[in-house]
Amino acid sequence: MDSNGTGDAYEIIIVGAGPAGQAAALYAGRSRIPTLVLERGIPGGQLWNTAEVEDYPGFEHIMGPDLAERMQKHAEKFGARFETAEVESISVDGDDRVVTTADGREFRAPAVIVTAGGEARKLGVPGEDELAGKGVSYCAVCDGAFFEGAEIAVVGGGDSAVEEGTFLTRYGSRVHLIHRRDEYRAQPIIIEQMRATGKVEEVLNTVVEEIHGTDGRVSHLTLRNVATGEQSRLDVGAIFPFVGFTPHSDVFAPDVAQQIELDESGHIVTDQAMRTGVPGIFAAGDVRSQFVRQITNAVGDATTAALAANAYVEHLKHARAKQAA
Ligand code: NAP
Repeated sequence: MDSNGTGDAYEIIIVGAGPAGQAAALYAGRSRIPTLVLERGIPGGQLWNTAEVEDYPGFEHIMGPDLAERMQKHAEKFGARFETAEVESISVDGDDRVVTTADGREFRAPAVIVTAGGEARKLGVPGEDELAGKGVSYCAVCDGAFFEGAEIAVVGGGDSAVEEGTFLTRYGSRVHLIHRRDEYRAQPIIIEQMRATGKVEEVLNTVVEEIHGTDGRVSHLTLRNVATGEQSRLDVGAIFPFVGFTPHSDVFAPDVAQQIELDESGHIVTDQAMRTGVPGIFAAGDVRSQFVRQITNAVGDATTAALAANAYVEHLKHARAKQAA
């Protein structure tokens, strides 16, 4: 259909290769639709930051990075092409959806599926940026092993904090789970698994006020109990904040962005066929506004997006052929 800087013609462009992008690529490729996947980093998205996955049907237990690699191989098998590129903007030019990348390339296709995910939210406290990579980490599977035998702090009360905190008990002499309330958002089964390790100290109603370093590495935290206002010191070798997620929904050119609804936390609102307010632009996965954010529903919604995008492209071709006749 349309030609790109590469000379190839694509009918669907997928922005982001996390589980949603890879599932969309698998379905689009398997439907024999020329499909391009643009990913700025390593395909797999949040799976690279996920230690153990126990809730993906068919896999009782698999490491996140292993699942990422399997998903990519599977998508490539059906013909999707993967390119490393950072998407800067998505705009509209007639029937073309135009994807411009940071290195100045332009890709065109009638349909685009945005599966750009998001990134770990920061705590926003003094010391966090300065000590990033020096004891402050957002990825247990990547960095946990560096803290063998250390006291480790994990911040948050959602699934990620509790799951990754449990994983970190493999390395840390003790894990301190610091949560700002006395109730968790995390699923009860995950909390049970964490408690069963016997190595997690739950520090509730508490926030981190500052991360301190000695010789350029994390040495201790200043904590504050939100109920009593009391401050305390916690000596740790590492801190892993898992306090939520900022979606990468800022990928649209201004005139397109005006027509795409975002929810209060910046996630893209779609209808049940994953259509945004702009025909030919679809969204799925963690970048999309939804009730739960699991790998399973990301791949399910991406399946819907791929099939809806396919139907959109076919409809467009049909309308053009009719016009030309
Ligand atoms: P989340 O569910 O949004 O939880 C974020 C946690 O961080 C909350 O407990 C929140 O406290 C706390 N928090 C937020 N800002 C904070 C701050 N500035 N200081 C201290 N604490 C702060 O995020 P998530 O755990 O990353 O999970 C994201 C989504 O992925 C969820 O839908 C989750 O279910 C899903 N997920 C699922 C699995 C699984 O099923 N195995 C694994 C990982 C993630 P409050 O509770 O007080 O708001």
